[in-house]
Amino acid sequence: MNEKYEAVIGLEVHAQLLTESKAFCGCSTKFGNSPNSNVCPICLGHPGVLPVLNKKVVEFTVLMGLATNCTINEKSIFARKNYFYPDLPKGFQTSQYEEPICEHGHINIEFQDGTTKKIGITRIHMEEDAGKLIHDQSYNSLIDVNRCGVPLMEIVSEPDIRSSTEAYLYLTKIKQIVQYLGICDGNMEEGSLRCDANVSVRLKGEKKFGTKTEIKNMNSFRNVERAINFEIDRQIEILEDDGKITQETLLWDADLNQAFSMRSKEEAHDYRYFPEPDLMPVIVNEDWKNEISRKMPELPDERKDKLILKYNLPKYDAEVLTQTKSIADYFEKVIETTDDYKSASNWIMTDVLKVVNDEKIDIQDFSVQPENLGELLNLIKNGTISGKIAKEVFQEMLKENRTPSEIVKEKNLVQISDSVEIERIVETVLTNNKSQVKQYINGEEKVFGFFVGQVMKETKGKANPKTVNELLRKKLELLKS
Ligand SMILES: [Zn+2]
Repeated sequence: MNEKYEAVIGLEVHAQLLTESKAFCGCSTKFGNSPNSNVCPICLGHPGVLPVLNKKVVEFTVLMGLATNCTINEKSIFARKNYFYPDLPKGFQTSQYEEPICEHGHINIEFQDGTTKKIGITRIHMEEDAGKLIHDQSYNSLIDVNRCGVPLMEIVSEPDIRSSTEAYLYLTKIKQIVQYLGICDGNMEEGSLRCDANVSVRLKGEKKFGTKTEIKNMNSFRNVERAINFEIDRQIEILEDDGKITQETLLWDADLNQAFSMRSKEEAHDYRYFPEPDLMPVIVNEDWKNEISRKMPELPDERKDKLILKYNLPKYDAEVLTQTKSIADYFEKVIETTDDYKSASNWIMTDVLKVVNDEKIDIQDFSVQPENLGELLNLIKNGTISGKIAKEVFQEMLKENRTPSEIVKEKNLVQISDSVEIERIVETVLTNNKSQVKQYINGEEKVFGFFVGQVMKETKGKANPKTVNELLRKKLELLKS
């Protein structure tokens, strides 16, 4: 970015709530049902029908508000946002406008150097989703209204974000929180978490905001970063050429790595918002608020602190292990079986997450049960197997659901810690490799590793490495003198 300028960014995040039924009717929210099957007169907007608010939608949104330090408004109201779009049979979207349910919150984002920044949350409100248009190759447009009325929560940030990196960190945090709360699966690629960015630039030190544009259609975290960078550069270029920024909505094209103008930006009053006459105001009194707050699970930051303080893990480990709730859960299940916390962390961060990432699965679906991994770590700790053999056992565990003890027994992998037996092998190795022994005596220390390797080869990797090292050192030093 040109040093003279600074970017001012606000994000609007839409999170699809994980309720069983839609926001204002009893239709299923199940994804993947045949098109236009999850519908009823209410979500199709037939005349004379009345919506009924799903209580879960309120609870989930309040939970999010509490998790992001918002004020929960005792009274909030729904509004009709009027616009024409073919995927919205009602002709308006039921949303909240003037009196949203949550306001004045914030979250903290953390940079790599450990510093943090507070990003304000203007408001969080409830609304419903629209349907889906599918444009086929023979120029037909098809419509699937299964998604009409599926509950969304819109989280609007203050324009506190100053770079694409900050936007990325903010979004990551929001995703983490909704996943920990269990109110949204947070999947951006599948559209259950969507993000629009309002971007403007201004000269550094300037108090007034520049003209902003809104970018839509960024369907991954990476694309949010790329689109924001694109837009910042584009606006600076215009200003540098003495041009004027047009207030407009842009669509991000991930393939072309560019944003294209979609329409001139509408103003809120264009939507002719008015209070929804068919829905009562939503009242969240102290009792209900307290009841919801009692359901608050441990949030990512608390969980991270616990891993550092209670299990003595480095900050880096704690961050990796709490990036998703399911990874943190897996870790905590492993350490129900073993008290070797650091090894558990190391194994999960490397061996386990490698498989999980390669197979593109959630750790919940990982084939090795946490108690089996815990048992494997215990076998290393009590000297039954070496760390090296453990990797081999782990590979077997990936293939079929068996306990490490069974595998160790069946494959005869128990570590040889018997020093008499190891001593015998050490002697054989030294006798069979006279020239290397001579090298060692002449001061070539580096052949030591060769001897270790030979002993390991003889024992198929099963010798206790510590005993091998000690015995080899002792024997060779004797030969030297
Ligand atoms: Zn319905």
